[in-house]
Amino acid sequence: MHKRLQELRGMLTEVSDLRSAAAVLHWDQTTYMPAGGADSRARQISLLERLAHERFIQMAIGEMLEDLREYEQSLPYDSDDASLIRVTRKQYERESRIPVAFQEALAVHCAHTYQEWTQARPANDFARVRPLLEKTLDMSRELAGFYPGYDHIADPLIEFEDEGMTVASLRKLFAELRGELVPLVRAVAEAGPVDDTCLTGPFATADQLEFGRQVIERLGYDFSRGRQDLTHHPYMIKFSLGDVRITTRVRENDLGEALFGTIHESGHAMYEQGIDASFDGTPLAHGTSSGIHESQSRLWENVVGRSRHFWTFFYPALQSAFPGQLSGVTLDDFYRAVNSVEPSLIRTEADELTYNLHVMIRFDLETAMLEGKLAVRDLPEAWNERYRSDLGVLPPDNRDGVLQDVHWFGGIIGGAFQGYTLGNVFAALFMDAATRAHPEIPSDIERGEFAALLGWLRDNIYRHGSKFTADELAMRITGNPPSAAPYVSYLKKKYGAIYGLGASG
Ligand code: ZN
Repeated sequence: MHKRLQELRGMLTEVSDLRSAAAVLHWDQTTYMPAGGADSRARQISLLERLAHERFIQMAIGEMLEDLREYEQSLPYDSDDASLIRVTRKQYERESRIPVAFQEALAVHCAHTYQEWTQARPANDFARVRPLLEKTLDMSRELAGFYPGYDHIADPLIEFEDEGMTVASLRKLFAELRGELVPLVRAVAEAGPVDDTCLTGPFATADQLEFGRQVIERLGYDFSRGRQDLTHHPYMIKFSLGDVRITTRVRENDLGEALFGTIHESGHAMYEQGIDASFDGTPLAHGTSSGIHESQSRLWENVVGRSRHFWTFFYPALQSAFPGQLSGVTLDDFYRAVNSVEPSLIRTEADELTYNLHVMIRFDLETAMLEGKLAVRDLPEAWNERYRSDLGVLPPDNRDGVLQDVHWFGGIIGGAFQGYTLGNVFAALFMDAATRAHPEIPSDIERGEFAALLGWLRDNIYRHGSKFTADELAMRITGNPPSAAPYVSYLKKKYGAIYGLGASG
């Protein structure tokens, strides 16, 4: 290996280790830490993040990247070395624009706001977090200001999560999708509700966790390089490629919460566990974008985990885990129940069809706040109004309204939500490509075999880590830029069959 590159890798690994140490503290904060630890924990995380940031933007890394420019240009674009230099340079240029003092203040503010939110949400107390959210908005605008030359103030914030996407390109994509989704949701609503009471249990927590564990082990989540714990808001977190954890929330009266949440997070985790081990400790050792990450959680959760093939295999085991609740429920009834479409209040519990409407509401509201067209004090009302007009439901309180998602209360405002809908679009695109390459995938799934699918995903997506952007991955896989067409046709086919809609539906 080039000597300079070896030095660079050494420094990058130190940065990565500091960030991982901060991540362990964050994981502990949301799983086991007593409330009394909150203030010092915020300070500790902020110190580690500051050290990581300072170390990353130090001059030596910039000089090394300069020295490596010629070497990079002598290599093929997709070589590991060229990709490491290219991706590190992009991050370096992005991060070195943020002043250390600002970075630190933002980390302290976000940790504090998160802690307040964990109290404010159950208490339905928006007023408690309102001033904090106002400060978050100011800081988010300030952050965008470090990247002048944008078309829209949200663009730099979106770029952090989904490189290459902008407010303009997303508004176009969302408008296209909305045009297809709204009539489909309406047709499904007219076809009448599906009975999903079989999911309300009660189902004992320990039994739910055990069943979920068996499912994701079979899918390919590696527990020797991961673990699962309980938390308020489920997520995946990685400390190294050998330690990729998931967290879960269980409700005894809702089988889907823990089950599909577990599959969802294991999809994120299998992506990270599948990254080329030689990338560990470098900027390549991460999923490439928010949209591609979500594509993997959604592919496993929805395209696989809510398919008839999947339940043909797993339903008998689920019935024997919960005989009292499910012995009288047929596979067909259960399949329809886990795919029932009903406009609802909570994004994370939304069905596949209405889910994207939740995302579009958040995207529009955060964009409006950043533009200065919507004040934080008017946010709850604006939120409720959009739920009424878009989904036909009215949140009874802020707990199940504007306070429901952690994103604005644990991070910046801007760029936080578009990845979910991009994920749905990419999930359908990749499943389509995988099934074309391996037509046996659907019958494999019916037999509880996931190796062909997981193998295709590892080869084409996971192992590359951050080497390629979302657009580059789509080009490499399909020969075309990303398209929403496979997603729309997947939804029409699946829900057309479940709800007995005509071919035009
Ligand atoms: Zn996710």
